Amino acid sequence: MIVELISVGTELLLGNIVNTNAQYLSETCAKLGLNVYYQTTVGDNRERMTEVFRTALSRADLVIIGGGLGPTEDDITKDVCAELMGMPLVEDPEVRAHLEDWYRQRKRTDIPDSNWRQALVPEGAVVFSNTNGTAPGLALEKNGKTAILLPGPPNELYPMVEDQVCAYIQKRSDCVIYSQMLKICGYGESKVEEMLLDLIDQQTNPTIATYAKTKEVHLRVTARAESEDAAKQLLKPVIKEIKKRFGNAVYTTDEHENLEDVVVRLLKKYDLTVTTAESCTGGLIAGRIVNVPGASEVFNEGYVTYSNKAKKKILGVSKATLKKYGAVSEQTAREMAAGGVFTTDADACIAVTGIAGPDGGTEEKPVGLVYIACYMKDKVKVEEYHFRGNREKVREQTVIQALDLLRRSIIKNYKKD
Ligand code: ATP
Ligand code: MG
Repeated sequence: MIVELISVGTELLLGNIVNTNAQYLSETCAKLGLNVYYQTTVGDNRERMTEVFRTALSRADLVIIGGGLGPTEDDITKDVCAELMGMPLVEDPEVRAHLEDWYRQRKRTDIPDSNWRQALVPEGAVVFSNTNGTAPGLALEKNGKTAILLPGPPNELYPMVEDQVCAYIQKRSDCVIYSQMLKICGYGESKVEEMLLDLIDQQTNPTIATYAKTKEVHLRVTARAESEDAAKQLLKPVIKEIKKRFGNAVYTTDEHENLEDVVVRLLKKYDLTVTTAESCTGGLIAGRIVNVPGASEVFNEGYVTYSNKAKKKILGVSKATLKKYGAVSEQTAREMAAGGVFTTDADACIAVTGIAGPDGGTEEKPVGLVYIACYMKDKVKVEEYHFRGNREKVREQTVIQALDLLRRSIIKNYKKD
């Protein structure tokens, strides 16, 4: 099914608000296995809206239009679309009752006449109720084409799409779409694509889509079939093959799980505690761990040891090491990680030291040089990285790689099979 997205609102054209609805709707369509060919934004202007809607309906099977369903004069999406599709507006008693209820609950009696326009629905349209607002969503079907109209405010649009619109679209498409996410850490997007080239090229069903994130690549594998079970069967061998190629680098297949969730889950699983000893990240790693509900079971304390003095005082890094190798060195990272475990009695410590920039780099130790160390089971593993980008980017990449080193270390040291 070919889809086109239209965002309505002069405020979008003026740059007053960011078009997050379009991003959300595109992502949702991808999950449903629908092909979005165009995204258009148009102001609240009758002629231009008519032209854009007409063009979209001529080249797409499904046109999803967001915004301009409110009660004010400039909200004309429904009028324009109904007129274009030749569907007269009639009052819908259920929508009228919802409006009356809405105002009654809010003790509003001074309702302008124009607000009751929201109870008008194109004859024969499917109505999506709006739990967070007054404008219902609508689906207009004519001559094999469908237009779905949605309210602009995200807190109204998102739940409506999730609870009603997705099911409506799926019912109309001739097959079931099922997709599975795989999240990979430690490979760049081009490397992932190179390693999957044969699969990406071969596969039309399932399809493999890659999304590049900071130091991570997410893959969505999507299958179409006549039933969910059949779609899952199609996915199985492809997922298995991807896992075989990337091994432990696939850190989750759960769409809602991120790297720190996995780290905390693994620490809990093996009954471990971790401490953090951070220099250039200034507490960001600890912050990510503490983001996870239940982190208190695995995390007692963490340190920001930014100066040499703090590295010596809190973590016991030796003066000689700092003098001979410098604060940003494999040796210092190693001693930070060991010191973190000895001072806190934790089972593991993740330590980072690096040059985030923009100043402080030398030819020998350039900006972006970072050492990450993980102490576990009386051993320390240190990795050297050369990150690119500004201060923020270097720190962000350090956090991801540190969490991933911790994750890989737990698997290596504790996983039985
Ligand atoms: P209302 O009843 O609020 O007028 P509406 O359906 O007419 O709803 P709009 O007037 O287009 O919707 O937008 C209302 C508000 O919703 C905007 O001010 C903006 O904050 C938000 N909004 C609209 N479109 C988008 C979008 N594409 N992305 C993000 N937010 C949006
Ligand atoms: Mg409006």
